[in-house]
Amino acid sequence: MLPWTSYEAMSAAARLQPESFWLEAAQRITWKQPPATACRTRPDGWHDWFAGATLNTCHNAVDRHVESGRVGQAALVWHSCATQEQQTITYGVLQGRVAGFAGGLRALGVEKGDRVLISMPTMIETAIAMLACARLGAVHVVVFAGYAGPELAQRIDDVTPKVIITASCSFQGRTAISSIPALEQALTAASHAPLACIVLQRAACMAKLLPGRDYDFHTLELASPAAPVSVKAEDPLYILHTSGTTGKAKGIVRDNGGHAVALALSMELVYGCQPGDTFFTTSDLGWVVGHSYGIYAPLISGCTSIIVEGAVSTSALHQLCLEHSVACLFTTPTQMRLMRQESRHAPSIIWPTLARIFVAGEYADPTLLDWARAFFAKPVVNHWWQTETGWSITAHFFGLSAPEPSSLKNEIGRPAPGFHLSIASAVPGEPCGEIMMALPLPPGCLAGLWRDHAIRAPELYLDATRHYYRSFDEGMIGTDQAVRMLGRSDDVIKVSGRRISGIQIEKIIATHPAVHSCAVVAVADPLRGQRPVAYVVAEAGLSDPPAVEDIIMAVNKTLGRWTGLRDIHFVESLPTTKSGKITRKSLANARGS
Ligand code: AMP
Repeated sequence: MLPWTSYEAMSAAARLQPESFWLEAAQRITWKQPPATACRTRPDGWHDWFAGATLNTCHNAVDRHVESGRVGQAALVWHSCATQEQQTITYGVLQGRVAGFAGGLRALGVEKGDRVLISMPTMIETAIAMLACARLGAVHVVVFAGYAGPELAQRIDDVTPKVIITASCSFQGRTAISSIPALEQALTAASHAPLACIVLQRAACMAKLLPGRDYDFHTLELASPAAPVSVKAEDPLYILHTSGTTGKAKGIVRDNGGHAVALALSMELVYGCQPGDTFFTTSDLGWVVGHSYGIYAPLISGCTSIIVEGAVSTSALHQLCLEHSVACLFTTPTQMRLMRQESRHAPSIIWPTLARIFVAGEYADPTLLDWARAFFAKPVVNHWWQTETGWSITAHFFGLSAPEPSSLKNEIGRPAPGFHLSIASAVPGEPCGEIMMALPLPPGCLAGLWRDHAIRAPELYLDATRHYYRSFDEGMIGTDQAVRMLGRSDDVIKVSGRRISGIQIEKIIATHPAVHSCAVVAVADPLRGQRPVAYVVAEAGLSDPPAVEDIIMAVNKTLGRWTGLRDIHFVESLPTTKSGKITRKSLANARGS
């Protein structure tokens, strides 16, 4: 039970007495050594949460629920939209499989602090691999399975994993694509060599295992079970790469203690969920929402989590909601647009168990949200997120008994506890500008960047005063604290809610010998929200200008096909500022994004 009934009371408690607010929130977690302090400032200006405390995140997500009587409750339900397979795993079975797989990882030499790279589609085994790492205190690095070899190689060299875990194939629609060529390409390109690769064999496309390097996933699960290893609250649980502001993906580091506390509180406060409820997240586990709300938050809270491989149809989503009495659905505007399209000529559907629906990840048109409210006949709310924050920055709070004002319905909500927002406007007095967050950021937010986190996190994310985190999102804040989002101030493009930096794509196009310069900007896409468009200046005096297909192929080979780049425009020159910087915004505005 939450101690506050209204947003104002909750927000004031977090603002005025942050130590006691977060120490109280920390009671939702089972600690080996409970925290005595909440927030501690580090010499680099960043913050550690619950320093001095120890815990194991896997124990909190799995074992403690088995111990408290949830052994037979479904922990995870998995549905593959590609193969139509479905699987349910109870907390009891999950505990056995995670402990066994952790034992298998340990037998291969994985210990506390080691990195394990997981490149798998959304599957029960992906969750098992993540939880097994957490059990050992090892750091998982999940890479979206749609990435091609070069991006995988970059991440291998960034985190130097001891072990890589993959599935023999993933799916594009219903077509099985072997994962092995991308893995081989990445291993050849990377300077770092892992000790071993673990392969989950899938019937649609089995892999030939290389003796001495490759191990079978299910065979490793048969190892003697490993017990949870206690780690410090500030030790890393995972690294998740994301794009923007640099041409290379950045490894966001998430801690164990602050992460567990923030997610446990959010399940109650934001989503209004109680232990035993069923929570459905349509996000791929390779992205932050999949990490936080596909796996950790629902499991830490003793809920049942539904995860899906691929794009889920309205009928499959409806069936899953009925069969598993889903209370909360967390999805993207892209999924809503798909459903709107599918439902045009279909009879209306009743969603008896669904209590509320949440969307995030990209701009949601108010007319889309209104359509969704009519379609589900349930509250549908929008909230604001970043990979960096790990949970919602602004939200609507269904755990509070006082109803939210209806005027908020089309906005992204009000700040979650611990997020102190302000606007940095270019013109004094202007209400719109970049949304800034005063330090410290609340628990659950990035603990730093991998490798040089003490140096680069403040450099990349803090403003000149070093007191504010820059969100790179622009918006405005109303007198009632309701936030409105206007869009990114940097080069980030959201394709179906998935994040890619335009500069990352530009760097690939620029390697083409016939390309002189280029700029990639986002344009509106009716289904996927946004997609990238490239403007290319060809090298002068060439008899053969670069071919559109070659440019697209180079991008697909490096990043994968999911970025959806198909429009390449050849131009004489690119618009620049007086100092020669390309003004991407003017290109995007000209296209009406
Ligand atoms: P990611 O790190 O992939 O979660 O992407 C974070 C970015 O997605 C944010 O910085 C925003 O630009 C965008 N975003 C997230 N949630 C919303 C939302 N509710 N409305 C508009 N944009 C959003």
